Amino acid sequence: MNRAKAMQRAGKDVLSFAAGEPDFDTPAVVKDAAIRALSAGMTKYMPTLGDPDSRAAIARKLTTDNGIPNCTPDNVAIGAGGKHQLYVALHCLLDPPPPGQAPQEVILPVPAWVSYAPLSELAGGKVVEVPTGPASGFLASPEQIEAAITPRSRILLLNSPSNPCGTMYPPDHLRAIARVVEHAVKTIAPDLVVLSDEIYEKITYAGIPHFSIGSIPEIAERTITINGLSKAYAMTGWRIGYTGTSGDWGRKFIAAMGTLQAQISTNITSFIYPAIPVALRECDAEVERMRQAFANRAKVINARLAAIPGLKTSPATGAFYAFPNVSSYFGRTSPAGRRILTSLDLAEALLDEALVAFVPGEDFGGCGKDHLRISFACSEEQINRGMDRFAAFLASLR
Ligand code: PLP
Repeated sequence: MNRAKAMQRAGKDVLSFAAGEPDFDTPAVVKDAAIRALSAGMTKYMPTLGDPDSRAAIARKLTTDNGIPNCTPDNVAIGAGGKHQLYVALHCLLDPPPPGQAPQEVILPVPAWVSYAPLSELAGGKVVEVPTGPASGFLASPEQIEAAITPRSRILLLNSPSNPCGTMYPPDHLRAIARVVEHAVKTIAPDLVVLSDEIYEKITYAGIPHFSIGSIPEIAERTITINGLSKAYAMTGWRIGYTGTSGDWGRKFIAAMGTLQAQISTNITSFIYPAIPVALRECDAEVERMRQAFANRAKVINARLAAIPGLKTSPATGAFYAFPNVSSYFGRTSPAGRRILTSLDLAEALLDEALVAFVPGEDFGGCGKDHLRISFACSEEQINRGMDRFAAFLASLR
């Protein structure tokens, strides 16, 4: 993304599909709420985990939209983006191993968002990858998860809709995974919890409803739901993320997050709190307008990618990413004489020679190394121009 931006600044007509953020502006009512609070002098320290109104608005949303049981304002933490909430939650869940002992394990279906593994390792955990691919719609099966669970399993980290795969776990699939977790807790993995990153929940368009695994009563009190305003409300720069939990266990967990967060960052910027209830309560129409735009873009890009020979992919059904397997082009040479052996080689050649920026899949783990991630948070016109360049470049490889 940075290289594409530098080339654009140097006057090159680069089409970038690299950014993981909506291209829309934040809804005006949300901005106005923050501006009013700033003008009114709401500029002082606040409670670490957030002001009571915002925590109550999030608890209500998690209860009514997501069906999370026994979710009170004390079951909610607010922090500086979904990433910061993941950092704090992972540090509360994982302990670095005592000398000579094995670390606690984080079960992670891959390909997965680039930050999960480093954040887990920073907190002292060891990532156990569960491989997925286009043939399974990038879904880890309940059997695969069962096979990955050991007495050291601490976290099952799920992300639906998925970055980078652009796919979603259907509700029944999540129910089956919940049964595996429930059984494992009673038998070999008493410390196992589910960490469910649902930051793309509003960006769905294939008839698969978003489903929160934390709504399943049997595992609600061992599920931690991460979400935020970044993607659904086009607010990536505001840095508003939150954590939701259930019941007494959840309240204790959130209190622990408060203890840690108080030593890291304290509250988020005070005058943006009033924007949170406004976004959650007053922006349904704007969120729906953006969702429809993403749905139309998904249709365009799914059709364009399906028409390119040699690509294997699962159609995007959620979030705003397409994730084609490009490995049938490995071993070829670009018009400028570059040997294409990896998705990184292909992404570099595409950027330098065709002026299209995609993200190479190496860092997402698993089969990601055979894929490119294409963010379609841009106009349909740009998608069509980018796909023209992509198809022509692939056809030019010898
Ligand atoms: N989770 C996933 C899967 C993401 O893709 C991202 C951002 O790209 C985040 C969490 C973090 O979002 P935030 O901007 O709220 O920190």
